[in-house]
Amino acid sequence: ISGVVALDRFKGTVDPDFKCNLCNKVLEEPLTTPCGHVFCSGCVLPWVVQQSSCPVKCQRVSARELNHVLPLKNLILKLEIK
Ligand SMILES: [Zn+2]
Ligand SMILES: [Zn+2]
Repeated sequence: ISGVVALDRFKGTVDPDFKCNLCNKVLEEPLTTPCGHVFCSGCVLPWVVQQSSCPVKCQRVSARELNHVLPLKNLILKLEIK
């Protein structure tokens, strides 16, 4: 994929895979749950602390089980570069 194509995609609609289900924005500091869902850390952390479950209600999750997704974070950073 050329840089121009990636840039055009980011300016238009962002791939839903790069969006947070809670705030509906591009993922910021993405964290993944054991069930494979990804959210911004700022969205998912308070949720999991209060609800002890995945925000899409598929299973119980504790804050300790959330993991950073470094490859995804780097990918999003690349998308945002102008
Ligand atoms: Zn979010
Ligand atoms: Zn889930």
